[in-house]
Amino acid sequence: MKDLLAKFTAVGRQHAELLAQVGSDPLGVRVDRVIGPTEAEIEGRRCVLLGSNNYLGLTFEPTALEGAHAALDAAGTGTTGSRVANGSYSLHQDLERQLAAFFGRRHALLFSTGYQANVGMLSAIAGRDDTVLIDSDCHASIYDGCKLSDATVQRFRHNDPENLDRRLARLQAPGNALVVIEGIYSMLGDRAPVREIAEVTRRHGAYLMVDEAHSLGVTGPGARGVAAEAGVADKVDFIVGTFSKSVGTIGGFCAADHDALEAIRLSARAYLFTASLPPAVVASARCTLERMRTDPGLRDRLWANAEIVYDGLARMGFELGPEKTPVIAVRMPDTQTGLTTWRDLLDDGVYVNLALPPATPNGNCLLRCSVCAAHSADQLDHVLAAFARVADAPDWRGTAAE
Ligand code: PMP
Repeated sequence: MKDLLAKFTAVGRQHAELLAQVGSDPLGVRVDRVIGPTEAEIEGRRCVLLGSNNYLGLTFEPTALEGAHAALDAAGTGTTGSRVANGSYSLHQDLERQLAAFFGRRHALLFSTGYQANVGMLSAIAGRDDTVLIDSDCHASIYDGCKLSDATVQRFRHNDPENLDRRLARLQAPGNALVVIEGIYSMLGDRAPVREIAEVTRRHGAYLMVDEAHSLGVTGPGARGVAAEAGVADKVDFIVGTFSKSVGTIGGFCAADHDALEAIRLSARAYLFTASLPPAVVASARCTLERMRTDPGLRDRLWANAEIVYDGLARMGFELGPEKTPVIAVRMPDTQTGLTTWRDLLDDGVYVNLALPPATPNGNCLLRCSVCAAHSADQLDHVLAAFARVADAPDWRGTAAE
């Protein structure tokens, strides 16, 4: 007889094997105490955080803490419902206006997470007769949004405008096609060739959506991301993003000039049928967005730190992602080495993300590092010294030289 839960036996076994091999759970790390944006006590050990996505270090931004405390006192801990049912707080509308102005768009729509922004937008926009073309390295939320849509979905080769061009050329009606890319890709940290992709998309009369999750606050004029950096923001139809990285809190959004965004508000189930963001979260996002817009020094420090880490790791012979950005992927020769290296770094007080397939491109095991503007020189020295010890370990020399 079939058992509904039988499929989880294998998952549980794999997880138990992982635990046995590593001695702690890389997928269930316990943070005992947060010390600051770049430091925490993890499983009893003081660690430099090199896997937090907290690119600008704004999780303790004084104005955001103050704004969040005030909103908490004034409006309580939560909205207890969706904006459609319970109404919008003026804070939600203020943040939408702020986001629209930030990106120079007429409209902005808030979601409760970046995941929901992608799922909500894609499932609402892409109907039965439409086609969605996504870059093969896109995030799971983009894949899931496609699954929830009734559209035909095609994956084009990662960062390959020619492959996209050929696919669009084969469509009978590219006018109802949507191309989806990311600004900086979450795993390998490489930028999208937005200029070329926007040119191809425009030429075929299709629409373009760019998820700037890892590029908002990180690059571009006014901290607006990779499309703005490439000077083609006006060719992007839908800018999607999250507050869970550089903005330092939680939430998602889409900004666009299309008036249809207001009708999408009435159609996106991930907007309609879930609770809206709590006031304290909205208030802190408003403060950090303003800080990142007006303080380019944050980005300068972030990129200077990214360069130090990337160059340091490259000198040690690690195989890294193709571009020097604040997302630095260190490719492990195999999963076993990945697991032990991740553990060794943690023992040395450095926390990075262990990224395993299917979350990674090409079945690779990666140690995914994300650099922060607030990392001090001492912390970066500590990080590089820990990686140097790994690189010098005899088992590593053996595999890395292969
Ligand atoms: N898009 C991309 C590219 C991401 O990397 C992520 C999160 N890792 C998301 C969307 C989802 O964002 P959130 O954490 O706000 O759900």
